[in-house]
Amino acid sequence: MIIPIKTIDGIRADFPILNEKVYGKSWVYFDNAASGQKPKAVIQAITEYYEHTHSNVHRGVHYMSQRATDKFEHARKRVAQFLNAAETHEIIWTTGATEGINLVAATYGRKFLKAGDEILISGMEHHANIVPWQMLCEEKGCILKVIPMLDNGTLDMQAFDSLLSEKTRFVSVAYVSNALGTINPVKEIIQKAHALRIPVLLDGAQASCHFLVDVQELDCDFYVFSGHKVFGPTGIGVLYGKSELLDIMPPYKGGGEMIETVTFEKTTYAGLPFKFEAGTPDIANAVGLGAGIDYLEEIGWDFIQKQEDLLFQYAMEEIKKLKEVILYGTAPEKVSVISFLIDGVHPYDVGTILDKMGIAVRTGHHCTQPLMARLGIPGTVRASFAFYNTKEEIDRLIEGLKKAIKMLR
Ligand code: PMP
Repeated sequence: MIIPIKTIDGIRADFPILNEKVYGKSWVYFDNAASGQKPKAVIQAITEYYEHTHSNVHRGVHYMSQRATDKFEHARKRVAQFLNAAETHEIIWTTGATEGINLVAATYGRKFLKAGDEILISGMEHHANIVPWQMLCEEKGCILKVIPMLDNGTLDMQAFDSLLSEKTRFVSVAYVSNALGTINPVKEIIQKAHALRIPVLLDGAQASCHFLVDVQELDCDFYVFSGHKVFGPTGIGVLYGKSELLDIMPPYKGGGEMIETVTFEKTTYAGLPFKFEAGTPDIANAVGLGAGIDYLEEIGWDFIQKQEDLLFQYAMEEIKKLKEVILYGTAPEKVSVISFLIDGVHPYDVGTILDKMGIAVRTGHHCTQPLMARLGIPGTVRASFAFYNTKEEIDRLIEGLKKAIKMLR
């Protein structure tokens, strides 16, 4: 069970994997932007589901099917509360942020966009928020426009103002950059797009793990995130969409669950949210995601943000003392992600040395090749912190970087 006292030791005890040793050393996990670790509450919820509840959902009159359906739909309700969606049926289960964006591009995009229409994304997007729109552009003859990035890793909002026009038919931007940690001014983007009646999708893959997002307050039209980044299971994610848009969009995949009636002549589709959920859903992982959200709320967002701020400020202070380190992305509004290089050293070599010291960081282009091209580098080393990390672990990172500097320079 969760330890109610919010000490770091108590929180760390909730995450069994944090006790692992690699190469005989206690493991330091600073790859949280790639995926968050799982508290016992999530692991137990999934086990409990399989041991005591599993049956297929929505179809059976039998007891266990109804119990599974209740748990599954309760998880949807938890997600709706988590995002402050107006309606629970605005929450569509997906496999992750990637599928959510693909779904919108393939349904809204195919139906409502035509040749010559412009789709606006930003220069710091993850490939998941570039490629689906490029595929749509290829198919429909739409034009992809890109909001450029300034040197400090913030969006060029003057350029945004001039790129946004009557020709723009869709805007899709990251709330938070995975490679740099920049928090983008999405409220301003949404307000300006809405003034021209343009819908906006927010890629929240890196936002919902750091702070609470209110989709009604933001007034975004679509919002996507992945369960595994918010300390929930892999294989499950969420697309939020405003009812009035989801209602007019065609289905994504065809199959069971998403229909109302089927004859060989014609099929009619189910209402929301099932229209977008063909086939047996990932019931256990939806339940696990619901438990993950419960856990985060029990820890409390105030605590999470304070702890991450503390770690980020400390790490920045210490890393800036290393004159060989070049930082990338120094926006004033950032989450606890630090992207950097050791001058003249390939990021892979730094990552390998850190790994041998038991420290997991990400190296490479972070699925943002256009962003790396803009910075003129092949990739970076990325250390990303979560609320269960500690200052002592940051000391180990700094010690590792000093060793890497000594060995590689
Ligand atoms: N967008 C951003 C900003 C991301 O960081 C990621 C994951 N790295 C994705 C989208 C895709 O998420 P997933 O692979 O979980 O679908």
